[in-house]
Amino acid sequence: MKLLIEHQCPQCGAPAVLEETDRLFRCEFCRVKSILTRDDYFRYLLPDRAPQGRKLIYVPYWRLRGTLFSTTAQGLLHRFVDVSHPAVDLRGLPVSLGLRSQALKLRFVTPDTAGRFLAPQLDRKTVAEQFKEQYAVDLPRPLYHQAYVGDTLSMIYAPYYVNGRVYDAVLDEPLPTASVDGDALQAADGDRARWPLEFIPALCPKCGWDLDGQRDALALFCGNCGSMWRTEGTKLRPLRFATLQSDQPDAVYLPFWRIRAEVGGVRLDSFADLVRLANLPRVIQPQWTEMGFRFWIPAFKLMPRAFSRLCTHTTLAQPHADFRTRPPRGRVQAVTLPVEEAVDSLKTTLSTFIKPARKLLPQLPAIQIRPRAFLLAYLPFAEGPHDLIQPDLKLAINRNQLRQSAAL
Ligand SMILES: [Zn+2]
Ligand SMILES: [Zn+2]
Repeated sequence: MKLLIEHQCPQCGAPAVLEETDRLFRCEFCRVKSILTRDDYFRYLLPDRAPQGRKLIYVPYWRLRGTLFSTTAQGLLHRFVDVSHPAVDLRGLPVSLGLRSQALKLRFVTPDTAGRFLAPQLDRKTVAEQFKEQYAVDLPRPLYHQAYVGDTLSMIYAPYYVNGRVYDAVLDEPLPTASVDGDALQAADGDRARWPLEFIPALCPKCGWDLDGQRDALALFCGNCGSMWRTEGTKLRPLRFATLQSDQPDAVYLPFWRIRAEVGGVRLDSFADLVRLANLPRVIQPQWTEMGFRFWIPAFKLMPRAFSRLCTHTTLAQPHADFRTRPPRGRVQAVTLPVEEAVDSLKTTLSTFIKPARKLLPQLPAIQIRPRAFLLAYLPFAEGPHDLIQPDLKLAINRNQLRQSAAL
């Protein structure tokens, strides 16, 4: 379930409720559009019901939500993950936030949020690895590779206060006496909130025009000068893109991250290498050694099985038709999977087609994939009754799966 966040318009102060995947905020009152950015990850707090004047102590919890793909001898397995874990090492703390973060409306932590925020002692990598290990226990062996894809990592702060005993400030109830020690809680390293939440105006940095996009879009388009933009930290950066224009006026355009990467450990520089490595039933043409290999990863969220199938299919197809640097003319699927996460899925994608698998999968841990460049590529699809169809790639995507994925 997505978190809901109570918020105020940075322009006029009107109240709004955002979903955690929202990136482009358009105020219903003043109509001003702004882009929600952060340095590293979003920080939220649970609302408190503490009596006035209590000094709140906020305990950080990592929250991780996404799909964990595991490459095993029995194939590619996936599991949906939605977990939280304390980022501090204090005995007796609740081990997770449970359903709280989903049942309550959260708020962004801003520099004027009062209270002491405990400093995280566990970094995000450590926590993500711990969860991997937990889930790995039940997996068939050998286990060759694991990767999170489409993950949202955020920090949620849970409020407590000490008044003789330690109180859970969400409920305003004392914790059981065997829980976390009040002195330890008060002595723990912490500071006031000092993380700015930055809203940047949704205006084209090149020409000043309004940028367009759906509320959860990670790539924004300027209808005036035809440029595209993505956020990187708190800055807008130009995004290289290309479109394979269809002559069908009702085509639907789906975005893909086309990623050039250096692959070490197996040879995969060209289309000819791909045909050999995937043992495709095709006769290698001389010019294929000159055609650079690219990974193709959907730039939108999909159900896990459909996502990995699409990564494999499009990467094996290596679309190389007439791409032009201009925006798609027609309906466009929003970019909702950032390129950083697309990069996380490269080795998993590779693992689905290398042959012979029995010989090559055990080499997977030693195979290195270094992304070097990327481009956002739009492919046209025709709309069938149940599927979106890409005739040149012989590819069909179930429309229901696209719709369901909007909830991911
Ligand atoms: Zn407003
Ligand atoms: Zn512009």
